[in-house]
Amino acid sequence: MNIHEYQAKEILRKYGVAVPNGNVAFTVEEAVNVAKSLSSDVVVVKAQIHAGGRGKAGGVKLAKNLNEVRDYAKQLLGKTLVTHQTGPEGKEVKRLLIEEGSKIQKEYYIGMVVDRVTNRVVMMASEEGGTEIEEVAAKTPEKIFKEIIDPTVGLMPFQARKLAYAINIPSLLVNKAVKFMMGLYQVFVEKDASIAEINPLVVTEDGNVLALDAKINFDSNALYRHPDIKELRDLDEEDPKEVEASRYDLNYIALDGNIGCMVNGAGLAMATMDIIKYYGGDPANFLDVGGGATTEKVKEAFKIILSDPKVEGIFVNIFGGIMKCDIIANGIVTAAKEVELDRPLVVRLEGTNVELGKEILNKSGLNIVAADSMADGAKKIVELVKK
Ligand code: ADP
Ligand code: MG
Repeated sequence: MNIHEYQAKEILRKYGVAVPNGNVAFTVEEAVNVAKSLSSDVVVVKAQIHAGGRGKAGGVKLAKNLNEVRDYAKQLLGKTLVTHQTGPEGKEVKRLLIEEGSKIQKEYYIGMVVDRVTNRVVMMASEEGGTEIEEVAAKTPEKIFKEIIDPTVGLMPFQARKLAYAINIPSLLVNKAVKFMMGLYQVFVEKDASIAEINPLVVTEDGNVLALDAKINFDSNALYRHPDIKELRDLDEEDPKEVEASRYDLNYIALDGNIGCMVNGAGLAMATMDIIKYYGGDPANFLDVGGGATTEKVKEAFKIILSDPKVEGIFVNIFGGIMKCDIIANGIVTAAKEVELDRPLVVRLEGTNVELGKEILNKSGLNIVAADSMADGAKKIVELVKK
């Protein structure tokens, strides 16, 4: 789960990690009031969306007085910001962060991830801050330094110092940078984060080391033990189809293709996506309806797939075990009654209650193409959407 920059900064502040003073604003008036409460001449007005690249897209403005704060807030609130991370459709700005402007001497990068190769948390640092780190990683990987953290002892101060020196933090400020990294690590572990990115971390002219930007992503499977973090979820920032799916406890992820998939079991869902690709098609989603799904749940899953205008055909691939084929069939039939089934549908059913399931589908009068195997189904749906 992602949160906004201002929320990430509030968490960091609680852990003693240095961030500029500032606050969130939902209206122009609130923006001006926050600016008044700050004790700096230059105030930064920052669009809050769950995407980076805001600076380049005009979503970060330096205001020199309250009138400028008002003007920029008016400009940004309600605006659709298109950055390289939002996709061409962009994201509407509904919240602003108003914070003190820092006199930047130099920008750095600090990131943390759970590294699947070493099975450890890794802290990365680079002198090339402010820019896209993906580009640095591609062109000059030697400019990114990494420390692998042993979970039994956590980030050791010597590791943080090593990183600080490697990225040339001015020696007088190394202790501040170390304190920053130790605090960031503590947040990461205690809050079950999966990614944290401070880009840029800055050294200021008056000798401070602070986070000018902060992105933190949390492990959704650990949210049950962090009600405070769960509260920060902003549904406006998420794909409405995914939000709807999470209400019904469906494992759904929207993708870019045009073949909607309804499958039971994550492994079979992955294999189904693979086989669609193999036959030259493109899946529109990953969807695992799970083992104990009810007709109601299957119906909702089907409706979510159909609500995606990109979907030109649907492939239902079910291997009935705990999940019975008749439940899937009933779900499809009920959903098709509620929303018009205007696109080709290929169904492959196998396993528990398969005969009953097939009978329900046959009697429904729906225009369904039956498949004998997974490969047969994939081939058929790929052909049907090509037409
Ligand atoms: P994004 O990564 O989405 O572009 P950032 O928060 O990193 O947004 O801001 C972009 C740039 O704007 C930063 O690299 C920094 O140069 C400048 N900036 C951001 N916040 C401040 C601030 N509080 N004071 C001064 N400059 C800032
Ligand atoms: Mg940034």
